[in-house]
Amino acid sequence: MSSQNGIEPNSYIIRTFGCQMNVHDSEHIAGVLEEAGYSRAANVGEAEIIIFNTCCVRESAEDKVWGNLSAIQSDDTSRLVAVCGCMAESHGHKIIERSPVVDIVFGLDSLKRLPELIRRSRNGSICDLGDRDRASLDAVPSIQVRRLRAWVPVSYGCDNRCSYCVVPYVRGKERSRSPEAILSEVESLVGRGAVEVTLLGQNVNSYGRDLCPRASFAELLRSVASVPGIRRVKYETSHPRDLTDDILTVMAEMPQVCEHLHLPVQSGSDRVLEAMNRGHDRLFYIDRVRKAREMVKDLVISTDIIVGFPGETEADFSDTLDLVDAVGFDSAFMFIYSRREGTPAAEMADEVPAEVKSERFMRLSRLQDIKTSQSLGRLLGRSVELMVEGSARRGDYVVGRTRGNQVVLLPAGEAHVDSLVVAEVQKVGRHAARGEVREVLQACCPGRLSKG
Ligand code: SF4
Repeated sequence: MSSQNGIEPNSYIIRTFGCQMNVHDSEHIAGVLEEAGYSRAANVGEAEIIIFNTCCVRESAEDKVWGNLSAIQSDDTSRLVAVCGCMAESHGHKIIERSPVVDIVFGLDSLKRLPELIRRSRNGSICDLGDRDRASLDAVPSIQVRRLRAWVPVSYGCDNRCSYCVVPYVRGKERSRSPEAILSEVESLVGRGAVEVTLLGQNVNSYGRDLCPRASFAELLRSVASVPGIRRVKYETSHPRDLTDDILTVMAEMPQVCEHLHLPVQSGSDRVLEAMNRGHDRLFYIDRVRKAREMVKDLVISTDIIVGFPGETEADFSDTLDLVDAVGFDSAFMFIYSRREGTPAAEMADEVPAEVKSERFMRLSRLQDIKTSQSLGRLLGRSVELMVEGSARRGDYVVGRTRGNQVVLLPAGEAHVDSLVVAEVQKVGRHAARGEVREVLQACCPGRLSKG
């Protein structure tokens, strides 16, 4: 294809939507393309190949992708458009029917064939989701964009059946990677400069039950934290039912494991939790939090909450407010429930009216804002270790994350993205604190990408 309209031949750009797992998968997509001779474009306008790595967990995420696709000119044949990720796994060929600008729909199981799919798509659009039997992306090259921090998937898919969730349908049953493959990846990342590793799984703490011999997440966490040179080990997302005391013991004993737990509760009402098929009730959840706080010093707890699940009454919602108040989450990701085709909840009657959902969402946000700011207030005057992750919305600040995942904004001139610093917290806002750098522990290496 020739260069025209400012397009760089053999260049690509990946637009990633959704969770950290997708961000990690995009590193593999980049690895496959660069190995085949493609290079990353500076922006969408210059890219010959545009890849959308999608999410369909929430309707809004899917709408964003459809919006992006419809913004691409249908007569622009100089570009190639590909879609992968959860929307591809869920809708397959229907994506091409609805959006004719799409040339390729591929699954991560067919990622190794992507260069070939690109060549073949010159003769017509292609949908190749692979055999959906992938154990992992172990043998697929990847490009690690950040030097000091990395994500490492420990398992794919989920065996739970939360009634609102599409993940088990689009990502399949839980498949754990072998402890040897995970440790070897972590050692390689640390060898290339990483000091922070986040272990990823849809249900990370049920890791290893499908392996023979069985493995446990607690053992894996201890082994990863023992890799020489590693400073910060994080993990997400945990299911309350699978948060064992063994895991908490490792968190308490290994200083490399960060004092952060992302433990989705979703609702404070037992009636709603049962309809969600969460497999735990309110008391069980509260007890796990109590135990975790008892065992792990300075533990920071975040959660996910869904507002307006079908049939949620005012009394159910009050139970959620009550639980948020009682637990005092350090932060929370709050979502208004949206129907996801193919899930049991999508068939449930008694949908909560949109205006009621919005009003409840506002009330919950107000309460959580108070809790978040109280939690940040405890950092005031303290020196905290921060991984500088990126630029803040206000360009004159960068975003630093504590070991507990709390956000501390730093003046951009004081710290570079992808560096590890110590800062003193001087001010606290509703969602973030502000601080000043006191020491740079590990400097970034600007412009370097590392291949693995
Ligand atoms: S635990 Fe529930 S919400 Fe989480 S991925 Fe599995 S089914 Fe979805």
